[in-house]
Amino acid sequence: MAENDADQPQQPEPPKQRTCGTMPVHERLLRTNPAYLRARIASENYHHEFMQRGSIGGRTGVTTIPVVVHVVFNTAVQNISDAQIHSQIDVLNRDYRLKNADTSSVPAPYKPLAIDARIEFVLANTDPHGNPTNGITRTQTAEAAFTDDDKVKSAASGGADPWPANKYLNLWVCQLGGGLLGYAQFPGGPAATDGVVILHTGFGTTGTAAAPFNLGRTATHEVGHWLNLRHIWGDDGNGCNGSDFVDDTPNQAGPNFGTPAFPHVTCNNGPNGDMFMNYMDYVDDAAMFMFTAGQIVRMQACLDGDRSSIGTTVATLPAVDQPTLKFGDDNAPTLKFRDDQPSPTLKFRDDNAPTLKFRDDQPPPTLKFRDDNAPTLKFRDDQPTIKFRDDVPPPTIKFRDDAPPTQPQLDQQPKSPISDGPGFPPGGGGDPGFRGRRAVPFILSTPHHSMAWTRTFPQSAAAAAASYEQQILEYEQLLSDYVEADAAGQLLPEERQQAEAIHEEYLALYDEYWQQFGA
Ligand SMILES: [Zn+2]
Repeated sequence: MAENDADQPQQPEPPKQRTCGTMPVHERLLRTNPAYLRARIASENYHHEFMQRGSIGGRTGVTTIPVVVHVVFNTAVQNISDAQIHSQIDVLNRDYRLKNADTSSVPAPYKPLAIDARIEFVLANTDPHGNPTNGITRTQTAEAAFTDDDKVKSAASGGADPWPANKYLNLWVCQLGGGLLGYAQFPGGPAATDGVVILHTGFGTTGTAAAPFNLGRTATHEVGHWLNLRHIWGDDGNGCNGSDFVDDTPNQAGPNFGTPAFPHVTCNNGPNGDMFMNYMDYVDDAAMFMFTAGQIVRMQACLDGDRSSIGTTVATLPAVDQPTLKFGDDNAPTLKFRDDQPSPTLKFRDDNAPTLKFRDDQPPPTLKFRDDNAPTLKFRDDQPTIKFRDDVPPPTIKFRDDAPPTQPQLDQQPKSPISDGPGFPPGGGGDPGFRGRRAVPFILSTPHHSMAWTRTFPQSAAAAAASYEQQILEYEQLLSDYVEADAAGQLLPEERQQAEAIHEEYLALYDEYWQQFGA
């Protein structure tokens, strides 16, 4: 114990378990600020759009964000050192560039998802008036402790005013009460309160930083919120229906605490279980060490949208290769298109009635097809169902009106047995090989509900390509049989119609295969 304890106000015990105030702040703003609600919906739509257009227009290099740290202290010990602040900036720069040593602890199944977020942080060297600065402000306060009520963000309420939020990441460090480690404001909120607040004992790796939150991960987590990331369990208590709006994080029930053992299975997310080692869970600093590719897309969408005015981007890295097509969680299969794949074709056939559902806990999704390809959304026969929840606004399905879907590029197609063969005279009979056969069901689906087709998982991509090739071969065989029957004058009129329909499907299938794997 320090000698001067008697002279100091009682210091609260450092928290033993992570608690983040971001969601209460979010809910408060939703209740009290209609503009915030609209901004949040726009932000979610932008994220969807960003994914749909394959991050085109996004920042392809490394973005450097100027940071101002406002130290708001009541006691001398809370007036943390420059060294403690620098230690925190160092952690952010390791974690957001995948340079953290403990990335080696990511479990093998999740390793392919842990990639570089391409974001760096630097203490501002110029203040809002253009003067040189070390990026640190220090303000003494009469407040013994702050809460998540934003008072620390205003000089009028005992805190420190922010620097312009469109140019700086404002990071307040202070005493927080109630076991709170920190809180952030999602993009789209008032500029006057935009930024991140962190308890001084959960800040940096030295000075007052106290275990188990002395590795700087509270800031990594809260800055994640500031860049639009949600808690990985979806903020639905301990249920399995919440979403973090990111496709490559497993569905999980509730937050994990402490240092869990891998795997921890919830919501039927075995065998790998919760991704509790993600920065957006509630585990101790030493147990969290990764963002996923999908989370990084979401943060980059934020930098391209809500926070487009902040930071500078330098260097050029290859665009991050993103997953393309994913099937979601067990009980609520979700079909999502992502990023850089042009021309998705979604076809259902015949004998089952697939359901395309949009999740009810999100703002209306926007389903967009790129304009320069040949999107096809086809339903056949048995009345498949597209369901929209009636308690949310309907989603938007958009096709560009100035660029109708184009025909497949015929010079990229194989020679067609029908188009090159003789015509189909009426009449005929006999028993050619195609009778009694039917084309293989043309369903873009997988029985494995959590399987992903991605370019980052080459095995899955290869399996998907092989499946296409098998279907193409079967179509070609079937069409050859029709041509043979036609040449023998054995084709009935309805069979000829059938052949033409199958040929169209064949061309569409080949086009889709070409789009996915032919480049
Ligand atoms: Zn949080």
